[in-house]
Amino acid sequence: AKAAGKNRFLRFHPDMMTALVQRTHMEAGLQLAVARGEITVDFQPIVSHRMGQVVTFEALARWDRDGGRVPPSVFIPLAERTGLINEIGAEVMALGMVQLAPWLNEDPSRSLAVNVSGVQLQEPLFAQTVLQLAEASGVAAYQLVLEVTESVFFDADCSLIKQLSTLREEGARVALDDFGTGYSSLGRLQDLPVDTVKIDKTFISMVRTGSERLPILSSMINMAHSLGLTVTAEGVETAAQADYLAALECDSLQGYLFSLPQPGRRMEKALQQAEEA
Ligand code: C2E
Ligand code: CA
Ligand code: CA
Ligand code: CA
Repeated sequence: AKAAGKNRFLRFHPDMMTALVQRTHMEAGLQLAVARGEITVDFQPIVSHRMGQVVTFEALARWDRDGGRVPPSVFIPLAERTGLINEIGAEVMALGMVQLAPWLNEDPSRSLAVNVSGVQLQEPLFAQTVLQLAEASGVAAYQLVLEVTESVFFDADCSLIKQLSTLREEGARVALDDFGTGYSSLGRLQDLPVDTVKIDKTFISMVRTGSERLPILSSMINMAHSLGLTVTAEGVETAAQADYLAALECDSLQGYLFSLPQPGRRMEKALQQAEEA
């Protein structure tokens, strides 16, 4: 029985082999794509409720592979495991800055938001790299928003806090992405070095008619405001949702209602569409 038990761990099911081969294959593909500069970015506008204008574009990484698109929910976790996220993150930032520099330079209240993984924040040179990229592309540091998820703060070491503080001292802002999905969110909010919360789209999708009462949404918004934070709602798909959120004084809105994520060359169209929605 003992031998059989031991043997159990040695047996390698063919499905496991396939999965392993596929993963290794995808990993190699991603590495190649990064090296060849095949990671691109799309931009999705964030609209200020008060001004009815696009104030921010969020850069989202894209990987087109053999005619198909690999979703970020697949390749970002892979990149985080392999460390490739450092290169991808820097590339997304550089592309975002270069493509948006003319738009950003027109108005200092505009900003570029980028997603930052916890892995990147472990890098001692992270803040310095971001500031160098901004300088090189002629974008002001105060026009940057770094989107991080709550999980990066779980075992927050001083290095991570230092990276974010350095950037905030230069005027960059930090947004807490997917807000509400971490269990300790509301209680810990006041201790986190953040300027904005982005309410996760699962909460926004609970607004169906606009006439229901959703105390969770209003408490999240009120709580954030009482701490001096601004609030963005993500995943806004319907006018009813936008109206409901506006009534709760949510500061800005993002979602398919305004625009899908678009390549930079279609930015003008995305802008026009978002500001008319
Ligand atoms: P996220 O940062 O929460 O980004 C929002 C996601 O929701 C994006 O998916 C966006 O396309 C999608 N979305 C936008 N509006 C709507 C809407 O109205 N309805 C619905 N259902 N979805 C909407 P995407 O582009 O597939 O990205 C998925 C996730 O991958 C992102 O979630 C982010 O966590 C990660 N990601 C993307 N690019 C990067 C990157 O450059 N670096 C890092 N670290 N993560 C990235
Ligand atoms: Ca985000
Ligand atoms: Ca999010
Ligand atoms: Ca998300």
